[in-house]
Amino acid sequence: MKSLDQFPRVPLGIFPTPVQKLENISRLLRTNVYVKRDDLTGLGLGGNKVRKLEFLLADARDKGAEIVFTTGGAQSNHAMLTAAAAGKLGMQAILVLKNRGVTGCVGNQLLERLMGTDVRFVDTDDYADIYAEMDRIGAELGKPYYKIPCGGSNALGTLGYVACAREIAEQGEAFDHIICAEGSGGTMAGMALGAKLFLKGTKVYGMMVDRDPFDQITPQLMKEAAALLEAPVDITPEDYHLRDMCGPGYAIPSEAGNAAVSLMAEQEGLFLDPVYTGKAFAGLLELAREGAFAERDRVLFLHSGGAGGLFAVDMQ
Ligand SMILES: *Cc1c(COP(=O)(O)O)cnc(C)c1O
Repeated sequence: MKSLDQFPRVPLGIFPTPVQKLENISRLLRTNVYVKRDDLTGLGLGGNKVRKLEFLLADARDKGAEIVFTTGGAQSNHAMLTAAAAGKLGMQAILVLKNRGVTGCVGNQLLERLMGTDVRFVDTDDYADIYAEMDRIGAELGKPYYKIPCGGSNALGTLGYVACAREIAEQGEAFDHIICAEGSGGTMAGMALGAKLFLKGTKVYGMMVDRDPFDQITPQLMKEAAALLEAPVDITPEDYHLRDMCGPGYAIPSEAGNAAVSLMAEQEGLFLDPVYTGKAFAGLLELAREGAFAERDRVLFLHSGGAGGLFAVDMQ
């Protein structure tokens, strides 16, 4: 098996991110709940995409790219962080965004305005059309370019969260359960594969905040990332646990998610977002109610960020 350290990586963030105990939440849920502070990854307003971009943009750089394309909705945290990272590395980001969600100059759109990012909206949900548009723009500009998929969720981006699982193992504390949000799949797939490799006995849960077929996407990304690593593992359904926390739809706040955002803010002074981390934390609360955690268990919640979009969401 290859080591993660054999893959080119650009330093973008501040790692390791802290692990903290949530004392009040732990008392309320009668178990031991910790948070992995990937909202503090150190670029932009933090968030999970920084780990993926360390691998993806190293690949872009090594391939001589001058332009980096990516996509997502109008309030994509991933797109904003891609622009932030590309700028820092001296590459130009062009965001070809779906004309969905809050497109005004608030939240991540505001941050992109501050960075002077080239943002172009396309009126389609079809990724084939979006990638064709990137190719068209790339050809028009006549410079070498690199396309990053939605959420940075391909095999290489997934390595970012394999690296996170290794980092948790190196932090020296064992966990019985790890809970993360699943939006495009790379974070959950990386964490689940990383746990299989470095955190034996830890159950990893993906709280689905979109309606894509994650029962296929998750093992597929795990297998592809394992292949990159030449890791001799068989991926089975025991390796990942999925739960539908989408509610009324992707990027539409749910009652349970909003309640979870409020609980975390009131009890711990930490801000989750209603699109990803609030719904994921609502999933953790459901598991606790169902009795999935014993009193002695140690539960790790991945705070994957989302601050950029927080100020563009109508929570009513
Ligand atoms: C993108 C994102 C996620 C989901 O990660 P995926 O790898 O896309 O599944 C979770 N939380 C936040 C804040 C995000 O921006």
